[in-house]
Amino acid sequence: MIRTTLTLQALRDRLRSTLQQYQAIQPEATLESLRRFRVFAMVTLVINVLYAVQFLTHADVALGPAPYAWTMGIGLLHAAMACLMALLGFFSHRAVRHPRASARWGFALQMLVCATALAFACGLMVLDQWVLKNSTPFVLICLVVGMMSLMRPRFAVLLFGGAYIGLYFALAHTQPNAEMLAQTRGDARLVFIISAVVSYVVWRQYVVATLLRQEVATAQKALADKQTALEYLATHDPLTGLFNRREFSRLAEQELARAARYPCPTSVVMVDLDFFKRINDQYGHPVGDHVLVHVAAIVQKMGRSVDVAARFGGEEFIALLPNTTVEGAMTFAENLRQAIEASALQAGEFTVRATASMGVTCLPLGATASLDTLYAAADRGLYAAKQAGRNRVEFCALARLA
Ligand code: GH3
Ligand code: MG
Ligand code: MG
Repeated sequence: MIRTTLTLQALRDRLRSTLQQYQAIQPEATLESLRRFRVFAMVTLVINVLYAVQFLTHADVALGPAPYAWTMGIGLLHAAMACLMALLGFFSHRAVRHPRASARWGFALQMLVCATALAFACGLMVLDQWVLKNSTPFVLICLVVGMMSLMRPRFAVLLFGGAYIGLYFALAHTQPNAEMLAQTRGDARLVFIISAVVSYVVWRQYVVATLLRQEVATAQKALADKQTALEYLATHDPLTGLFNRREFSRLAEQELARAARYPCPTSVVMVDLDFFKRINDQYGHPVGDHVLVHVAAIVQKMGRSVDVAARFGGEEFIALLPNTTVEGAMTFAENLRQAIEASALQAGEFTVRATASMGVTCLPLGATASLDTLYAAADRGLYAAKQAGRNRVEFCALARLA
């Protein structure tokens, strides 16, 4: 008993989730249906106009009342259908062109298109009972509606069921023979059932394909996100968010190659925090980390967008300044030094102040040098700054390396 209840509950849950899935997919399916219908409307418009002209020009009272009424009826029905196709085709085109705006009325339009097509098919079937007993257009139109319109099964049942009820009563007006009437109603019922089944199969296929597509898109996005995160990890320092040493080298090499091709001076500034070990010892490593993040933010803020700033090592930073002369680099370094000195970091109960020493070097206009050479010169400047008492900026020319 418990097992039966559980199974029923599981079935109910599954059905509910499937119906929710169907509801979520319907707007996309509606857009696709209207896209198909846009083409279909153009084709049927032409066919209907041709038939309308053919039937209306051949309607002759001399044929007798029934054939005349049939010819006129079929001609007028095609003419009306041509007008409706033009109108509905136009609105479908608008819905496809403006999917956001048509989100509200797109589905109603889809249903209207299907109802119109089925009403037309039934109209032909009813009129044909008078003379021709031709059911081919009726069958074709029902099947086309089933295949073309992507709709949830409940709407297919509603449409085809409604059309059947309408046809059931309408047939009695043009088919006086009881046996033929029963036979035609039976055939029509079968056509509607087959069309509804076709509609369901096409709908299921669309749902499965859409879900698969969505899954692939989600997986692709997750992969792209992961790749972006990995790229960030590979190129940035996790603590400060500045470029890491490897990425700095890559970007700096690019800048130096550019400076060799389109000659311009390029400067390098090495920054090393003074007595940082003491900060760690006095306040603890977590506070030391905060100081590093704080200083990194200052370096980043003071640089231009073209400057390449990186965390080079423990408490060392480096900045490559493209198109910057010695004077420009010295001004930048001095401003940076003052900014670091002036800004105190409030870390919990502690107010921490840090200073930094800096070494500056410059690759003059037209000269070439490797990144290692520039690095060595800036490091020598930094060493000189430390030797001279710290919290200062020293320049080291490339020539002094020799
Ligand atoms: P100087 O003025 O001569 O540069 O002295 P200093 O104490 O700054 O230099 P030293 O090279 O002796 O010490 C650098 C310290 O930086 C040692 C190390 O514990 C600390 N350090 C390196 N990386 C990190 C980090 O990621 N976080 C923290 N909190 N400390 C770090
Ligand atoms: Mg150091
Ligand atoms: Mg230091």
